[in-house]
Amino acid sequence: MRPTDLNVPRLMRAVVYRGPNDLRLEQVKVPRIGRKEILVRVDVCGVCPTDIKKIQGGLQPPPRIYGHETAGTIVKVGPNVTGWKPGDRVGMHHHVPCLKCHACRHRAFAQCPQYKKTGITAGFEPAGGGYAEYVRVMEFCLPGLVRIPRGNTVVEGAMLEPVNTVLKAVKMLGLLAGDTALVTGQGPIGLIFTRLLSLQGIKVIATDFLSPRLRWAKSLGAKIADLPDGKAVLNGVDRLTRGRGVDAAVIAVPVDSAVAQGQSLLRGGGRMCLFAHTKRGTTTPLDLSTICVDEKQMMGSYSSDFTLQKEVARLVFSQKMDVRLLVTHQFPLEETAEAVRLASKPTAESLKVVVTHKPG
Ligand SMILES: [Zn+2]
Ligand SMILES: [Zn+2]
Repeated sequence: MRPTDLNVPRLMRAVVYRGPNDLRLEQVKVPRIGRKEILVRVDVCGVCPTDIKKIQGGLQPPPRIYGHETAGTIVKVGPNVTGWKPGDRVGMHHHVPCLKCHACRHRAFAQCPQYKKTGITAGFEPAGGGYAEYVRVMEFCLPGLVRIPRGNTVVEGAMLEPVNTVLKAVKMLGLLAGDTALVTGQGPIGLIFTRLLSLQGIKVIATDFLSPRLRWAKSLGAKIADLPDGKAVLNGVDRLTRGRGVDAAVIAVPVDSAVAQGQSLLRGGGRMCLFAHTKRGTTTPLDLSTICVDEKQMMGSYSSDFTLQKEVARLVFSQKMDVRLLVTHQFPLEETAEAVRLASKPTAESLKVVVTHKPG
């Protein structure tokens, strides 16, 4: 250990996934790091729907330690690592593409074989590790570390990854300032869409079934916020687009009726982005002539884009995209199961749920 390394215990607390819906607070060994790796003390970890899906659905064999929207403080740096030192506060990305393979050359980063590996772990099969006190960052994930400026919080650092996934999708939509977009679902992700699109001069029509979320959408820049079948939505599309239909539809809830509505409100040549349909085997009837004849494009976006890290950091740390507003609930590590329960069944008042660690 180099003299500058911070004190690290041998054992730590971790919330271990032991089977579907079975999260247990256990004592595990603090991960050892290699010469080109970094050890980070986790300060905060967001609860993300993709982890909830794995925890509740039992999609991967246990044991694992989940949690990937992580930010913390570097406590130990391998001797062959440059540019980082103990005490630095960082936001992390658990997937980082190689930038060289066939998929990366096509900018399909989420399809890159290296990207599909998880490079941050608190032990067992790497799964993010944010629901533990310390995580090991492997060499290939070091480029995914983002420094948190002095004036910003670790919570903001933990939100870099989700904001990145949204910005990536926003770029795919290829919109022009003054365009109109429908954003269906105003959970944390939908609200980030609403904000990022509004910042780019896009007129956003936001829908959700929960009225507090509609108020949030308005405050983050939506021109119109209403129930999906609300009059304001249909009239708004007509008024804002002069009857053309919306230029883009973002589906941030895994609901069939949202896809149908998005496709019908889209103008010819417009783009629909599926962002929440992560469950394999989901099908929905679709009039294919709307794609062939009307040239409505349907696309999906998943995970983050490494090349956007700097832009995301600027948006979050300048608080133009003020993610602090989205974090409504913080739970201590030992109540991670409760945090997951709340995030999976949001109440009218809950948005982003995070697990906060007591600094050791
Ligand atoms: Zn996530
Ligand atoms: Zn690659």
